[in-house]
Amino acid sequence: MPVLVMKFGGTSVATLDRIKRAAKRVGLEVAKGYDVIVIVSAMSGKTNELVGWVNETSPLYDAREYDAVVSSGENVTAGLMALTLQEMDVPARSWQGWQVPVKTTSAHSSARIEEIPPANIMRKFGEGMRVAVVAGFQGVSPEGRITTLGRGGSDTTAVAFAAAFEAERCDIYTDVDGVYTTDPRISSKARKLDKIAFEEMLELASLGAKVLQTRSVELAMRYKVKLRVLSSFEEPSDSAGTLVCDEEEIMENRPVSGIAYSRDEAKMTLVSIADRPGIAAAIFGPLSEAGVNVDMIIQNIAEEGRTDMTFSCPTDQVLRAENALKAARDRGEINYGELIADKDVCKISAVGIGMRSQSGVAAKMFKTLSDEGINIKVIATSEIKISVLIDRKYMELAVQALHDAFELEKAA
Ligand code: ASP
Ligand code: MG
Repeated sequence: MPVLVMKFGGTSVATLDRIKRAAKRVGLEVAKGYDVIVIVSAMSGKTNELVGWVNETSPLYDAREYDAVVSSGENVTAGLMALTLQEMDVPARSWQGWQVPVKTTSAHSSARIEEIPPANIMRKFGEGMRVAVVAGFQGVSPEGRITTLGRGGSDTTAVAFAAAFEAERCDIYTDVDGVYTTDPRISSKARKLDKIAFEEMLELASLGAKVLQTRSVELAMRYKVKLRVLSSFEEPSDSAGTLVCDEEEIMENRPVSGIAYSRDEAKMTLVSIADRPGIAAAIFGPLSEAGVNVDMIIQNIAEEGRTDMTFSCPTDQVLRAENALKAARDRGEINYGELIADKDVCKISAVGIGMRSQSGVAAKMFKTLSDEGINIKVIATSEIKISVLIDRKYMELAVQALHDAFELEKAA
């Protein structure tokens, strides 16, 4: 029988009633003839509570015990979901990660899945079991210890199961009804997309549209797993949600699919550095070692052998960046006149696979911002994305203006 993966996030299993509601959806798919693998998150808020308990008990905790504690929320919902299905006369049982087994690396609290052998679960399907309820977010290391996959990791569990079992689709049930052209809290004209390409989703997710864990989208793209994001609070329908799929399946031909933003960006400028080979490595090496996530970079043209270097990073990493650069200066590796940090900027991006074949997107974006009197501080482009840094106070205005300019409220 064909296999379907259904993943329920924390809000979809937050209470016994909601677990019942989710189980009914599983029952509908079983009735259609699917063998279903259900991946569950912990009840909403539970993982945060567990993390808090670990920190309170042991600030410099043993990461293996952190994982032992923090993975437990999913065990509870997996068992409860299996019991609920059994009450509905659907043959089901729960599996913890190590029982499957979900084999991961031993990087505790951010482990990667290496292999999911399907044999155990397939054998049970062969014996008449219809639903395997698997605790998301967790696995087992080569040393036999429990691991977790990083926050939001149950999305990745779901995609990895869909790939390993060659599932027809991976449905991700959450508390939003799909992926939007922009944040509906910022533009009331935001429209739900029927389809979005993996690459676009990656840009939107990493830009702060946190519907799916980024790694889950990367995995889905690699294994061409069809992903559907939908709400567990809406009536079931075949056209519900947004399909995240290969770009070949998308017929729409619009240059921009969405406007993303990232609120907490900072712009840092090193004034008057030597323009010599190796200078960029001398600056960005120490920043990367200090764990600073540098995003955009611009180097200005040099005058008399001196130049300026500007980069952006998250606001809460400014101090770390400053310390790393000062230390590099103290060691004599770099020499700069001044280090200026502007913490009041945000990043706005237009994203769309259509940009590959249509020109004029950048020009339209810049014209739109200029018509609103918004000054652009940094520009960066990729094949399917144009990003600008602007003053944070213009964030909402910029998102709305660009959404209007590219007519994203209209279906293509
Ligand atoms: N419960 C975990 C978390 O809150 C994993 C997940 O829900 O995806 O991060
Ligand atoms: Mg999540």
